[in-house]
Amino acid sequence: MTSLAPLARPSPFHEERVLWVRHWTDSLFSFAITRPEDFRFRSGEFVMIGLPTEGGAKPVLRAYSIASPNWAEELEFYSIKVPDGPLTSRLQKIQAGDTVLMGKKPTGTLVLDALTGGERLWLIGTGTGLAPWLSVARDPDTYQRFGQVIVCHTVRNVEDLAYRDFWTREIHDDPLIGDEAKRQLIYYPTVTREPFETPGRITDRIKSGALFADLGLEAGFSPATDRVMLCGSMAMIKEAGDLLETYGLKEGSNAEPGDYVLERAFVG
Ligand SMILES: Cc1cc2nc3c(=O)[nH]c(=O)nc-3n(C[C@H](O)[C@H](O)[C@H](O)COP(=O)(O)OP(=O)(O)OC[C@H]3O[C@@H](n4cnc5c(N)ncnc54)[C@H](O)[C@@H]3O)c2cc1C
Repeated sequence: MTSLAPLARPSPFHEERVLWVRHWTDSLFSFAITRPEDFRFRSGEFVMIGLPTEGGAKPVLRAYSIASPNWAEELEFYSIKVPDGPLTSRLQKIQAGDTVLMGKKPTGTLVLDALTGGERLWLIGTGTGLAPWLSVARDPDTYQRFGQVIVCHTVRNVEDLAYRDFWTREIHDDPLIGDEAKRQLIYYPTVTREPFETPGRITDRIKSGALFADLGLEAGFSPATDRVMLCGSMAMIKEAGDLLETYGLKEGSNAEPGDYVLERAFVG
């Protein structure tokens, strides 16, 4: 009788190599990993990320928005550093050449598929809730579907406006969507805890009408023209979602596309 060797269980993760790391501040950094050939995702989706463990211990995994568009060769992520965070206390120390674990099933609602047709797309995020906009705003489909794309990024301090140069300059040189971005994309940063030309929470600037006045638009959102994606702190998502409802916008999902979609990027 021959005995059969036990079947090796397929790993639930891709093991990818870190390509680069960029530290923005003491609490924010970005990194990129290699993209597995068979890994497909829609711009705006998130995936589970972790680090290899010793001796078969279960890895700590956390959800991360993919900051790259779906056509990219590498996968970029934009991360917080939580000093005693189970994952990011270690993840913040990765270097080029290290291994990162990535789940095999990207998912999420911050995708064009979950929105019905419209003319103007608002991408409203706080903190690392900017990450999905780096993906959606580099996807050519976004500019095909929407005549205008407005990225609103709210942070506490000016130094937390990571990717500011990217939004104001570098994206215009993107070989695929640079021309569209020049014509159709507006970047609107706001800062809550320091003097800034557009100060305060985005929700306050919506309520006061300052956001629309700054952009030369008629005040308010309209279900006929405006589509919105929200990502970031619970407080912002809740308040902005309630505000959008007062303008008559309805929340959408992959199963039932609507006027706006949201993702709670973290609790707190
Ligand atoms: C769908 C989804 C997408 C996400 N995408 C991203 C992303 O692209 N980038 C990212 O950095 N995080 C993202 N997160 C949060 C991420 O999953 C982890 O919470 C984060 O990496 C910290 O992990 P940790 O184990 O170190 O600490 P955790 O134990 O997970 O968090 C500790 C505390 O830190 C705070 N915190 C956690 N994440 C953040 C954050 N991003 N910004 C501010 N405060 C935070 C919270 O108050 C939390 O209670 C996402 C979460 C979800 C649910």
